[in-house]
Amino acid sequence: MDNKTQSNFIQAIIEEDLATHKHEQIITRFPPEPNGYLHIGHAKSICLNFGLAKEFHGKTNLRFDDTNPVKEEDEFVKSIQEDVKWLGFTWDQLLFASDYFDTMYEKAKLLIRKGLAYVCELTPDEMREYRGTLNEPGRNSPYRDRSVEENLELFEKMKSGAFPDGSRVLRAKIDMSSPNINFRDPILYRISHNTHHNTGDKWCIYPMYDFAHSLEDAIEGITHSICTLEFEDHRPLYDWVVKECEMEHTPRQIEFARLNMTNTVMSKRKLKLLVDEKVVDGWDDPRMPTLSGLRRRGYTPESIRNLCFEIGVAKASSVVDSQMLDYFLREDLLPKAPLGMAIIKPLKVVITNYPENEVEYVEIENNPKNEDMGTRKLPFSKELYIEQEDFMEVPSKKYFRLFPGNEVRLKGAYFIKCNDVIKDSDGNAIEIHVTYDPETKSGSGFTGRKVKSTIHWLNAKEALPCEFRFFEPLIEDDKEENQGKHFLEQINPNSLCIKSGYIEREAVKNAKPLDKFQFVRHGFFNVDTKYTTPEKLVFNQIVPLKSSFKVNNYS
Ligand code: ATP
Ligand code: MG
Repeated sequence: MDNKTQSNFIQAIIEEDLATHKHEQIITRFPPEPNGYLHIGHAKSICLNFGLAKEFHGKTNLRFDDTNPVKEEDEFVKSIQEDVKWLGFTWDQLLFASDYFDTMYEKAKLLIRKGLAYVCELTPDEMREYRGTLNEPGRNSPYRDRSVEENLELFEKMKSGAFPDGSRVLRAKIDMSSPNINFRDPILYRISHNTHHNTGDKWCIYPMYDFAHSLEDAIEGITHSICTLEFEDHRPLYDWVVKECEMEHTPRQIEFARLNMTNTVMSKRKLKLLVDEKVVDGWDDPRMPTLSGLRRRGYTPESIRNLCFEIGVAKASSVVDSQMLDYFLREDLLPKAPLGMAIIKPLKVVITNYPENEVEYVEIENNPKNEDMGTRKLPFSKELYIEQEDFMEVPSKKYFRLFPGNEVRLKGAYFIKCNDVIKDSDGNAIEIHVTYDPETKSGSGFTGRKVKSTIHWLNAKEALPCEFRFFEPLIEDDKEENQGKHFLEQINPNSLCIKSGYIEREAVKNAKPLDKFQFVRHGFFNVDTKYTTPEKLVFNQIVPLKSSFKVNNYS
């Protein structure tokens, strides 16, 4: 992998820390909560954390931030590991925050002993009211001045299961009038009588994010703890926890802008809703922005990494056009994916002057952008398929493809001229009759006359029936009539379109799930992992061939 992070402010911090010997080696971490599948936003964080460690010869831990027993599942733990590996990264240690629950509990008791934490019995509503607002200071909880002994005893009772969920919390005792609301006696522990995916029923109290995360980083010796901007206001609390818990190692939190993309939702909670409501066929539906969805659609790890490295890291939030990912996909696949001919809406063509039962083979390059991929032979005979859109009985202006009296080239083969149209009772063309000119074979050096277009074709007898799936964005949040609606009401009813068509047998003879192809004029396709059977190939269109998008607009 030769991706390099665009020069950014985090690199500058690390360079200085290494130059001043603040650290001899950097350690970063990617800390997902296993409450869903990873999405492309996470890819940015993964590329950043692993990318920096690699660049500066450091290490990266994959740490599951599993401090909430209700939402976390082993299925997610597994999928997250698979996705990080698929993106091309290798972690140093695989860790679970829940493995530190004993240490965290001891640190909470240390805070109590130092008079810096207390058990509070305010209801959630009361607590909100006591907290104050941005303009108004909060008020002290009536439970704030309990003795250390009483607090230790109550905390122990919380741990042993004496109290129901929500009845008590452990709070830090900091400053109810602080302008930073996170400092107004934040909650450190809450009660939750639920089975945890890792620790089972051992615990019924669980640490809150701000308390847990800083301890996790400190325990692991993380040097640079990189997180998204919404945690900027939490940094003073992060530092407070590390200091007051007397941790040996002091990690540094650094914030960057999260990745947002057009026409998509990027939150595990919302993505889970799409799965649970069966709007999609699973977390890996090809329309999902999850890494498993992008993989099944056909995006490559290279294209995703290149996107993440290209957009770089900044403090300012921005929305990335999803076409930028398509650009990197085309760049990656253009020299790699073999070319094939697919006919998606077939129209039968009969060459009336071609001998019955004769088959000849025409040679076609497997990838004009990559000579090393060689050539293959396509069977040519009397009955062919072309795309319906390559024929018009009454041509519109500037239509140079096939119409009665007009001549075109069949790609890699001969000139044909349309003489006759056979129609059904509704007047639709169902078959066209043409004649070919044997003099005009591709590669024969024929210069007698020119045609204005080349169309692709398949041998009707040899063509392999298969299915093509086309996608549009799942969420249409940019449509005027969708403004202000819940995202489940912004679903695009045309986000999936399934078509039956044909493909040339030779090009796909060894195709297996996740193999990628470029189909002439139709774009890049991936063999679907879920619906492909030994009898039928199902292709997902990854992206069409062209777009007006230029990456330089964005860099
Ligand atoms: P979600 O709301 O989708 O669950 P999250 O931030 O709660 O996102 P975590 O599992 O806690 O998800 O995230 C793991 C890491 O990925 C965090 O460090 C987080 O900052 C980062 N991350 C999550 N979403 C994005 C995003 N859109 N862009 C960049 N980094 C992200
Ligand atoms: Mg989260």
